[in-house]
Amino acid sequence: MLDIENLSVNYQRSLALEAVSLQLAPGELVGLIGPNGAGKSTLIQAILGLVRYQGRVLYRGAPLRWQRQKVAYVPQRSQIDWDYPATAWTVALMSQTLAAGWLHAPTPQQRGRVRAALERVGMATLSHRPIGQLSGGQQQRVFLARALAQDADLFLLDEPFTGIDKRTEAVMLEIFTELKTQGKTLLVSCHEWGEALQRYDRLLLLNGRLLANDKPQAVMTLENIRQAYGEAFRTMPDRQMSPMPTPTPWAS
Ligand code: ADP
Ligand code: MG
Repeated sequence: MLDIENLSVNYQRSLALEAVSLQLAPGELVGLIGPNGAGKSTLIQAILGLVRYQGRVLYRGAPLRWQRQKVAYVPQRSQIDWDYPATAWTVALMSQTLAAGWLHAPTPQQRGRVRAALERVGMATLSHRPIGQLSGGQQQRVFLARALAQDADLFLLDEPFTGIDKRTEAVMLEIFTELKTQGKTLLVSCHEWGEALQRYDRLLLLNGRLLANDKPQAVMTLENIRQAYGEAFRTMPDRQMSPMPTPTPWAS
């Protein structure tokens, strides 16, 4: 369904992604893992056409940038301007204006869709609150509602599990399962290496290049962890890195 061929991204003089090729199929929940600075956000933004890239991003055989409404995006929390003067409702309503444009007032049907999505994530009663005044987990659920109301086929979520509460995590996992059952495709990035990665159908291990692309058991090996997380320590000393994760028994 989604076909990425030879994708490379250059920021000024640094190469953030080098010749990444991969495919995503309907109904798949895929984890995108790698240390900070590995290029996870860059890959997601390149798929969306938000950064310049070389290579091809095809969706059902045609360039994805012609079909943006098919793709829902939940940005990494640190990339959102939380002082933006919008309520939770307005943020979720953006899902509709992406298709119709700002010039059109939302129809009752569109408002109903947004309300249902906010209810689904448990945020309907707080929808009048400015987005900046919600907790991290609540903000994440509003962005998830925006993605749901868009009725997309492909969901790109950038570190949705970072800095959230248990309730939000449970709501997200439930919704991921529902979306999978509906044949939707989910690509979810995560910088932490841990047992939670077993929940994915497949893992993509990234560090500039795509180092592994396989079932969790096959990707979560000591050799891969050293290759991805060890290399990051050597080649990117100026960047803040997460501590070296402790190897756990499944990595035998
Ligand atoms: P991740 O999301 O895995 O932490 P990123 O995609 O944010 O990684 O970053 C990958 C690399 O690209 C890093 O070295 C980062 O410093 C660099 N980078 C990211 N965004 C920009 C930008 N807008 N301009 C210049 N360099 C960038
Ligand atoms: Mg990132």
